[in-house]
Amino acid sequence: MTRPVQARLSAAALRHNLGRVHSFAAGSRVLAIVKADGYGHGLGWVARTLDQADGFGVASADEGIRLRQAGIQAPICLLEGFFGRDELPLIVAYGLSTVIHHERQIRDLENFDGAAALDVWLKIDTGMHRLGFDPLQATDAASRLRACAAVKDLGLMSHLANADNRFDATTTFQIARFQELAAAIGGLRSLANSAGIVAWPASRLEWVRPGIMLYGVSPMIGQGRADLGLKPVMTLGSEIIAIASRRRGEPVGYGGDWVCPEEMPVGVVAIGYGDGYPRHASAGTPVLVNGRRVPLIGRVSMDMITVDLRTQPRAQIGDPVVLWGEGLPVEEVAASAGTIGYELLCHVASRVPRIESAGP
Ligand SMILES: *Cc1c(COP(=O)(O)O)cnc(C)c1O
Repeated sequence: MTRPVQARLSAAALRHNLGRVHSFAAGSRVLAIVKADGYGHGLGWVARTLDQADGFGVASADEGIRLRQAGIQAPICLLEGFFGRDELPLIVAYGLSTVIHHERQIRDLENFDGAAALDVWLKIDTGMHRLGFDPLQATDAASRLRACAAVKDLGLMSHLANADNRFDATTTFQIARFQELAAAIGGLRSLANSAGIVAWPASRLEWVRPGIMLYGVSPMIGQGRADLGLKPVMTLGSEIIAIASRRRGEPVGYGGDWVCPEEMPVGVVAIGYGDGYPRHASAGTPVLVNGRRVPLIGRVSMDMITVDLRTQPRAQIGDPVVLWGEGLPVEEVAASAGTIGYELLCHVASRVPRIESAGP
């Protein structure tokens, strides 16, 4: 390793979080969501570690094929379905199942002559208004799919838009709408994402689809990971690479927005937006130096950030720094940067080595 930046990954935490899914949704099978390279943790590593999951959800056939090539035999579902009919032979060859969210995909299946080769999930739009069939078209879409020679089993899927807010009535409405249609159409049902699993018992049906909670991040507004018994899987770490005493009035970093209010020690940490640390993290964003919080100061550069070391006068070059993870929830860093934990995890750059750590 030639630069001290690394993303340490805890297999124990990942398995623990799957255990939390099982205890929230005891009767459900778990489709572990591993799109976007396992939310930035590494697709293969996550899937191999979660050998107790009942299946995996991905965003493309490429991701599904990578999982098969890594030896994963569990069901794999394409959450956005296929993007063109030319993918169908590959999807069948690799034994992937697919969401069907659009009329065009039904036509492609009607014109595809695989014999009972495909499990499909009919996606219904119960209020997210992104993908899926209007509830009024759902029964017709289901019969057309059941009539396709290529279709083996048909399940029903929908996605919750506001489940992160326990007080938002949209979710109650979405669940009711979904159940009504499921009663009419039949088949296995899947509705809950992480927030549904945690906060909406009626959304825990035959299959649940946890993503962010598996990685130890709270899916809820106003509730932290510890309240939900989740443990962070990734800890993004680095080291202090320089310390200097700056005089009162000296600006720090690009643009010189941040000016030292007094003589003070300023530390430079090897991490930047080139590693996926958010460039919009504002002054005051917490950073752990030697396990204690110090504020970020100045603008985030490509390879470096600067921190205020006034509370740590004895800090030294080489001291350990944590940007998020163990001891510092990624949600908190995200809030300081005007984004969400999901985005920070997905954006950890490929130049950052992922290292499995033995720890908790
Ligand atoms: C990404 C995704 C999920 C997982 O959502 P989380 O909020 O990360 O739990 C579930 N279902 C679908 C269809 C998704 O695209």
